[in-house]
Amino acid sequence: MNSPARTAESATISRQISELAQMRAVHAAFAKFAVRENELRRLQIELARIPAPPFGEAARAEWLRGQFRSLGFASVETDAIGNVLAVLPGEDRNLPAIAITAHLDTVFPTDTALQIHEDRDRIYGPGVSDNAAGVVAMLATAWAMIDAQIRCACDVLFIGNVGEEGEGDLRGIRHIFESSPWRDRIGSTVVIDGSGNDAIIGQALGSRRFEVIVRGPGGHSWSDFGQPNPIVAISRIVSRFSQTALPATPKTTLNFGVISGGTSVNSIPEIAQVSIDLRSASMEELERLEDELRGVIQTELPAKGRAGEPAKLSWELRKIGDRPAGELPEDSHILEVIRAVDAHLGIASQMRRASTDANIPISLGREAVTLGAGGTGGGAHTVREWFDPRGRSLALKRILLALLALASADPE
Ligand SMILES: [Zn+2]
Repeated sequence: MNSPARTAESATISRQISELAQMRAVHAAFAKFAVRENELRRLQIELARIPAPPFGEAARAEWLRGQFRSLGFASVETDAIGNVLAVLPGEDRNLPAIAITAHLDTVFPTDTALQIHEDRDRIYGPGVSDNAAGVVAMLATAWAMIDAQIRCACDVLFIGNVGEEGEGDLRGIRHIFESSPWRDRIGSTVVIDGSGNDAIIGQALGSRRFEVIVRGPGGHSWSDFGQPNPIVAISRIVSRFSQTALPATPKTTLNFGVISGGTSVNSIPEIAQVSIDLRSASMEELERLEDELRGVIQTELPAKGRAGEPAKLSWELRKIGDRPAGELPEDSHILEVIRAVDAHLGIASQMRRASTDANIPISLGREAVTLGAGGTGGGAHTVREWFDPRGRSLALKRILLALLALASADPE
C-alpha cells in the first residue's frame, strides 16, 4: 500500500500544509472566520429566503453575482446555463485552475414557504444546510482570500452552479466539464455541499432514473371489458423487475418511487407509469440493470400479439436522470492533500460515497472531492431542515487550506 515514493509525497504535502498554515496572511484569514460568523449567518438566512426550485435558480444566481461583485472580483459572469463564475487570477494563468463550487438550487418547488427562523444557535428552514451553507462557505473562502490578499500560483475559480438536485441531474456542473471554456482548464475541483466537516466524498454514487410509460386504447370497464389494461402491465413489470438479483458489492439498489395512471374506477386506463431509481457504485451494474429493465418490459409487452397482430399496448422507457459513478484512486493528489489538511487540523475524517457535483469530474477521471460547509445539520430535503453553525470556522479553515495547497501544488 504505502510505497516509499508515496510516503515521501505525503511528507512533502504535510510540510506544505504546515507552512501554509503558518503564513501571516493565512493566519489572518483564519482569525476572521470566527469574527465574521454573525455576518455569514445573516448571508445564509438571506440566501435561504430566495426561492431556487429546480430550473428556477435565476434569483439566487443574481444574488450571488452581487455578492461576488461586492467582494471585489474583477470578472463575474453567468454562463449559458445559469452558473455564476468568478475568477481570482493566479500568477501564472497557464497553470490548471482550481475550482471551488457549491450548488444554488434546492429540492423545493416554487410554492414552498421559505420561512427561515432562528432558535438559539440553530437556523431552521428549507435549504438552510443544503445548500445555503455551502454557498456561504464558498463566499467566505473568497472573502478571506481577497481580504488577506492571498495570491495563488494558478487561477481559483468560484462557481455557484445550477441544477444539482433531482431532475436538475447535475446539469450545471455537467455544462462546466462538457462544454464551457473552463472544461480543460480546471485541474482539481472542491465541491461544498451540506453541513459537517469530517467527511471526504471521493467516491461518486451513480444513478439512473427512468419512467416506464404504458399506453393503451382504454375504455369502459363493462362494455370494453377485454381491452388490455396498462395498470396490469405496469404491475407485472414492477413485480418482475423487483425480483432482479442485486449484488451486495458493489452496493446496488433499485426503487420504484412513484406509480400513477388511470382515470376512474370504472374506466380501463389509457395510461399508467412508474418511476424507477437505480443506484450503484459501479457503472457496469447500472448498465446491466438498464438492459435488464428493457428486457423485462419487452417480455411483458411484446410488439406483436400471439396471432401476429400489432399489440394494443405500447410502451416508452424515458431516462429522467443519469449520474455517472466513479471513484478517485487512493493515491490521488487531492486525497493526499485533504488527508494532510485534516491531520493538521485534528479532524478525524472518513471517506464516503455519495451523489454530488463531484460525480461529473470524478467520472471523467479528473480530481474532485466534496466537503461539508461545517457546523451540523439535519432534516435535509424536508421543510424541517436545520443548520447549527457552531464549529463552522473549522470547516472554513479546512476548505481554505485545501484550496491553497491545491493551488500551489506542482502541475503534473
Ligand atoms: Zn446538496
